[in-house]
Order: sequence, then C-alpha cells, then structure tokens
Amino acid sequence: MRSLGDLRGYFDVVVVGGGAVGVFTALDLALRGVSVLLLERGRLCSGTSGRSHGMLHSGARYATTDPEAARECIRENRIISEMAPHCVRDTGGIFVSVRRAEEDYHQELASACLRAGIPVRDLDVGTLKALEPHVSPDARSAALVPDKVVYARELVASTALLAVSRGASIVEEARVCGIKVEGGEVVGIEALSDGELFRVGCKGVVNAAGPWCGRVAELAGVRVGVLPAAGVMGVTYANLTRHIINRMRPPSDGDIIVPYGPGVTISGTTAVLVEDPDRVEVGDEDARVILQECGEVIPALRRLGFSRLYASVRPLVSPGEGSVGVREITRSFEVIDHSGDGARGLVTALGGKLTTARLEAERAADLIAPHIGASRGSFTEKVRLDLLGEDDLRELADRLGSGELGGRLATILREALDTIDAERYRGLLLPLKFASMMGASS
Ligand SMILES: Cc1cc2nc3c(=O)[nH]c(=O)nc-3n(C[C@H](O)[C@H](O)[C@H](O)COP(=O)(O)OP(=O)(O)OC[C@H]3O[C@@H](n4cnc5c(N)ncnc54)[C@H](O)[C@@H]3O)c2cc1C
Repeated sequence: MRSLGDLRGYFDVVVVGGGAVGVFTALDLALRGVSVLLLERGRLCSGTSGRSHGMLHSGARYATTDPEAARECIRENRIISEMAPHCVRDTGGIFVSVRRAEEDYHQELASACLRAGIPVRDLDVGTLKALEPHVSPDARSAALVPDKVVYARELVASTALLAVSRGASIVEEARVCGIKVEGGEVVGIEALSDGELFRVGCKGVVNAAGPWCGRVAELAGVRVGVLPAAGVMGVTYANLTRHIINRMRPPSDGDIIVPYGPGVTISGTTAVLVEDPDRVEVGDEDARVILQECGEVIPALRRLGFSRLYASVRPLVSPGEGSVGVREITRSFEVIDHSGDGARGLVTALGGKLTTARLEAERAADLIAPHIGASRGSFTEKVRLDLLGEDDLRELADRLGSGELGGRLATILREALDTIDAERYRGLLLPLKFASMMGASS
C-alpha cells in the first residue's frame, strides 16, 4: 500500500486500525464519497481479526445469553455469505450434548434460536453419528444451525481492495501516535511511519483499533471502557469433523471445534481479562482445558493433541459498575460519539465479532457522517467483494502502474494481473486465498 510520505496532507476522515472493522469503515465511507485514509500500525489483519476462531457465527452460541448479539450475527451471517462467497465455507454447525445437563439445555437453546430468527433443526443421534463419525459415543442429542467458516484475511484484503478502488487510501506500518483536538474539535492526527513523524489534517477520526482502542482514545484525552479478554485456540493437523461442533451449553471454555480447512481443525477457546493486549501468554494449562472440554465431544482430539497454539484479544465493551464474569459480557458492539467528551469528530467502534464487523462499521460511519457533511446512507450491505468490474481493475492497474499502491496487497495484485490466472483473479479469489493460506495464523 502507499507510504505515508506520498500522501496529501488532508482527508475528511482518518480510520485508525486495519482489522475487519477498520477496513469496512474505510469502504463504507469511500462509498459515501468521503475522502478517507486508513492507518494500520502493522499489516492489515495483524490484530484480533487475523487470529480469530474462524467462525461466521449463526448467533446460536449467544441465543440464550445475549439475544441482541445473536440477532446481529444471523443477519450479518447472511449478508457476509452473499457479499463475500469466496471468504466463506458453508459447513453448517452442530450443537451436541454429551451430558444430562446439556441435553436439558437443548430445548432452551432451540427456542432462543427461533426467537432470534436463527434456523435450527434437531438431529437424532443416529443421523449425527452418520454425519460425524468422530463424535463421542456419549452424544445424547444434537441440533443443526447455520454456522460457517470464514477466512478473515481474505475478507479484510478483499474489503481493503474494494475500498482502495473506490478512492480510499490505506497505509500499513503507520502507527497513529497523536490525535489533535482544538476548541473541542478533531483537526488532525500524527503518525509514525518508517521512523518519521507525519501530520495529516482531518475533520473526523474513527477509532477502530480493536483491543487497543482505549489507548487510541487516550491520544485525544478521552476514556473508553474497553476490557481486553484474551482467548487461546489449539490447531490439530487432522480432519475430524465436517461441521463446526459446539457443545450444547451456554458459552464457556473449550466448547467449539472448527474444521477450518483441509487437514486443519481448530479447537477453542478460553477467555481471560488481560492488562496489555500486546502481552498475552499461552500455556500448557490452556491446551489442557481445551483438550479436556472439546475432547468430551470429539475424543480423538485428546489422542492427537495440538500441533500449535495461538491467542488473540477480544475488545469487549466494559459493563461499567459491578462485577460480571467475562463470559457474561456482551459480544455485541458499541459505537461512541465523543462530542460530549470534548472531542467532536472522534468516534470509537468497540466490541463485536468478526461476523458483525460490517454492521459495526456501518454504524460508526453513520455517526461520523454528520461531522463531515456526508449524509448519504451506507451501501456496504449491497456490495459484492468478489466481483470487481473492468473499471475497478483498470483503476487498480493504473494506480499500480503509477506506483501509487505498494506493499503486500499490491504485490499480490500485480502478480495476479500478470499471470495465466488473470481472468480468475478478476474476482480476487485465488491470490487472496493463497495469501491467507501462506500467512494465516488461524
Ligand atoms: C480468541 C478469539 C476468538 C474469536 N473468534 C471469533 C470467531 O470465530 N468469529 C467471530 O465472528 N469473531 C471472533 N472473535 C472476535 C473477533 O475476532 C473480533 O471481535 C474482531 O476481529 C475485532 O476486529 P477489529 O477490527 O475491531 O480489531 P482488530 O482486528 O484487532 O484490528 C485493530 C487494528 O488496529 C491496529 N492498531 C492498534 N493501535 C493502532 C494505532 N495506534 N495506529 C494504527 N493502528 C493501530 C492493530 O494493529 C489492529 O490491526 C474472536 C476473538 C477472540 C479473541
């Protein structure tokens, strides 16, 4: 992508953070005709979005405990599946009970799914075993829901490319280190890139820095209640299930097994509050808990163990006063307009899921739009990320030719436009898939 030094000195909006929420915000604003610059301190998708569990949630996991998050998930599950079919694998998900208490929870879960608009179908144990031969002989009941696998790196890269083709500027390895506020209004940011300090003027800043958004808000003298909650996942090199397998119980540790791709199964997760999202420790105890819990549903996991562990940090919305268990904190999101905190033009997008990042970005763009005189509504629900047209490709090729685009995505694109597969790359399918496989941490 571009280097900061090449850029002009003013944009309507600067988006901080190149995870799923940031790139969808950049796309949303670019489609509204807003001049937008996204700055990412590392590489795109190098934060939480690139280290998730890989699930496009149906919302069933949250149906009994967090119905708002459940409704958001099923709505966005459908939208993302249509807009980015190259980033989604429709495996379906099955909730399985292996204990009496879990079997008792079955009806409560099914009713809550229906209330949230999530299709759910009971499976008898014979059918379950035919579909999933590795499931425990202790399985007592099962229910099918529309959970899917999502490839976050492809989703983020495709969204970024469409945003760029619509005029957005994206700069990787540029860390925002200052937000300038004058007379209660945001007037610009400062960023460090290649050891140099750059200043960019702007009317609006969208803070999409995930678990780091508290720190970014502090740059404008604003406090944001974010709770960083780390989670660990274990990777097993084996095909163990066809569907995503969930334990039939309210969200807890070690209750999801994801058939992420050929020969790769990812089990998880855990949830522990951490002080510093840049310092998360992963240990044998995490592996033990996940293998113990997930192994009750798929016993082969205990025999095979994990080839590697990885972790990331959820940016959870702080529930404010009172003590609440980390599993009880909402997985929904919040978008905050900081006008009342003395920083008009600053909006923070906080919380949510990879699954709901598009919606979160839409709401953030809706909040910032009036500050910059952009009134048109969001279009991102309608776009296709896998079908760049002739004009888009020409525009991207021109920008590549003029050296305006640089970095990893530009390399992928240049190679794509140059090879036997150029026509197939029109949908940006293969290069991104390849890139995600080569660089994926999950
Ligand atoms: C263990 C775990 C498993 C999960 N599994 C799933 C799942 O299966 N399905 C699902 O839907 N959701 C899942 N989630 C939730 C989901 O991954 C996150 O909610 C989502 O990815 C957050 O996206 P984001 O864009 O807000 O944050 P991020 O992806 O973290 O992006 C924020 C970006 O901001 C950048 N940044 C920070 N500070 C600065 C700065 N000063 N200047 C410039 N850039 C900066 C960071 O480098 C980062 O890239 C999971 C979360 C965890 C922790």
